[in-house]
Amino acid sequence: MQILDGKIVSQAVKDAVKEKTSLLLAAGKKTPHLAAILVGSDGASETYVASKVKSCEEIGYKSTLIRLDPNIEESVLIEAIEKLNADVDVDGILVQLPLPKQISEEKIINLIHPDKDVDGFHPMSAGKMVQGLPTFLPATPYGIMMMLEHYKVETKGKHAVVIGRSNIVGRPISILLNRNTYPGNCTVTVCHSHTPNLKDICLQADIIVAALGRPGFLTADMVKENAVVVDVGITRVADASKKSGFAIKGDVDYANVAPKCSFITPVPGGVGLMTIAALMMNTYNACVAKNK
Ligand code: NAD
Repeated sequence: MQILDGKIVSQAVKDAVKEKTSLLLAAGKKTPHLAAILVGSDGASETYVASKVKSCEEIGYKSTLIRLDPNIEESVLIEAIEKLNADVDVDGILVQLPLPKQISEEKIINLIHPDKDVDGFHPMSAGKMVQGLPTFLPATPYGIMMMLEHYKVETKGKHAVVIGRSNIVGRPISILLNRNTYPGNCTVTVCHSHTPNLKDICLQADIIVAALGRPGFLTADMVKENAVVVDVGITRVADASKKSGFAIKGDVDYANVAPKCSFITPVPGGVGLMTIAALMMNTYNACVAKNK
């Protein structure tokens, strides 16, 4: 069993982006600039945004963090995005999800200019991804693809089962694994909360991507020998033994599933780190495309 190590791969990606960025600056081009908007102070969202800002610093990007009160009206966030869309110095915009109930996530995502859509959530980016055209890939699926590539995991002709069909993870990873590229060329089954016989389907899988947000959902009896298992789940579970009062749990019962696998991602230390590395890559690409 080989661990797909998010620490190693994300560092390699960030080092490569850092190198490319220093070449960019040496050529007299502008510094890539990522702007993040955080509405409210949800603990997990705070952590994610802080990691993204820290990665920008490590690589040498400029970053701007805009904090907004959780009780704002939608119009305040709209105005903030319109300003960033118009700001020529800003290359990438990300709005940390989830948003408070009074704000429509769909409306907000659609408002981000597609050229600055480094999270890859805009319908324009999603449509291009489906057609295999160059675009910003959503960060988590993109990070998973980079991880499979780094470890040279064979995907051609494999049966991949994706559990979860959200617009940010399940659906896009199912499309990327199915594309006529490497990694890709899988036959993909997408499962969701209404899928009957999920265990039988998982037992046919060469590759399983678990992205449903239920800690420990994928158990050893659902996984065939030598399967590749990618655990996307991140759930905070109360744990009095931790200083923070919680532990981060994935969707896979790691201790029992790992011995059966050819490759597996741990949580933490797996896909989560790759998501940030992919975001950094998208920001670099946005900057280069916008400032030719
Ligand atoms: P979501 O709630 O939007 O979607 C969950 C999906 O799982 C839905 O499509 C639903 O149909 C399916 N599902 C729920 N229960 C199921 C069941 N019992 N059987 C089969 N399918 C079931 O969630 P999301 O935004 O896609 O996130 C999923 C998980 O991934 C969460 O834990 C989230 O925190 C995590 N996540 C991690 C990263 C990362 O960087 N590692 C990024 C995004 C999301």
